[in-house]
Amino acid sequence: PINEIGENFNSLMLAVREKEELLAAANGELKDQYAELELLHKQAREMADTDLLTGLRNHAHFQHHLRWEVDRALRQHQPLSLIMLDLDHFKIVNDRFGHQKGDEVLKRVGRLLRNEIHDGGYTARYGGEEFIVVLPETASGAALEAADRLRMKMKEVSTDVGLPESIVGGSFGVADLPLCANDADSLISAADSALLFAKRRGRDRVAYFRDLSGTELEDGDIERLQSRLEGASLQTIRALVEAVDSTDK
Ligand code: GH3
Ligand code: MG
Ligand code: MG
Repeated sequence: PINEIGENFNSLMLAVREKEELLAAANGELKDQYAELELLHKQAREMADTDLLTGLRNHAHFQHHLRWEVDRALRQHQPLSLIMLDLDHFKIVNDRFGHQKGDEVLKRVGRLLRNEIHDGGYTARYGGEEFIVVLPETASGAALEAADRLRMKMKEVSTDVGLPESIVGGSFGVADLPLCANDADSLISAADSALLFAKRRGRDRVAYFRDLSGTELEDGDIERLQSRLEGASLQTIRALVEAVDSTDK
């Protein structure tokens, strides 16, 4: 009986060992599959954030990113600039040379932005033929210079893609924190207004939001500016109240 028990025990141990090996193999396989899933997830995330034509970040990613940058800039009391650019008379490029050529131009502009904007700068395709540059820790002076450099570089795009010289150009709107806006949405609308102004002034130029005079502002701009002023006055009043509270018992 002891021998029999021993044999049973041995065969049981053998079965357990076999199962253990199977489990280890299955575990390894699971780990591989998990790593593969993780990679796929990363790729899917990357695709969801990227504009497929230009390879730049897309509108949704920009909206998210700008909010993050604005929060950081306000917290650290750092300036932040936003450049919005729109290709001039782009419809003509499509109409005269076809949409594929138009796509080629958009891709080339994407490459230009990637090559020219580095050191913490951020680029995105805002929509159709509109692009974005975000420059953290940068006030309007340097942002206006950067925009003008891009405007000049844009002139190389036409011949690069085999189009007649100077057919591709762009207008640029610049706005910065904290002088032009106090949150992401008002920064976008300030840059947008400056861009509109550059278009109205004849295109192929850079405009800064604070250079727009009262008559050049749209109704919406005036309302937005007014609500910012109201917000600022309230903050001042609160600060004064706190100062009085802390000094006079
Ligand atoms: P403006 O100087 O006033 O900006 O004139 P515009 O012709 O650039 O502006 P408009 O808004 O009239 O036309 C924009 C054109 O951009 C029309 C649209 O077909 C084209 N567009 C938008 N997205 C794409 C795209 O992905 N590929 C191509 N080929 N064209 C596009
Ligand atoms: Mg446009
Ligand atoms: Mg345009």
